[in-house]
Amino acid sequence: MARKYHQRKVAGVRASDQAKFERMLQPVETAQAQPTQPLLECSICNRGYGGIGNSAYPVNNGRCCDACNTFVIWMRMQHLRSNA
Ligand SMILES: [Zn+2]
Repeated sequence: MARKYHQRKVAGVRASDQAKFERMLQPVETAQAQPTQPLLECSICNRGYGGIGNSAYPVNNGRCCDACNTFVIWMRMQHLRSNA
């Protein structure tokens, strides 16, 4: 599986929201998962991550890494606000 998350459009996410998220992601770009753990692939950024991950809903129905979870939580807040 290719790991080119910067070029990837996430379904259901506005390009402006995704751009904001990718700026938020920069400081954790160099974070490494524990090498002894099996890597799962994040359904949002396609990078490998260790641990159990997080639910990626409502961005998608898969699992995501801790870095992307920040974005997922932010998207949930946007959904709550728009549905209020
Ligand atoms: Zn991710």
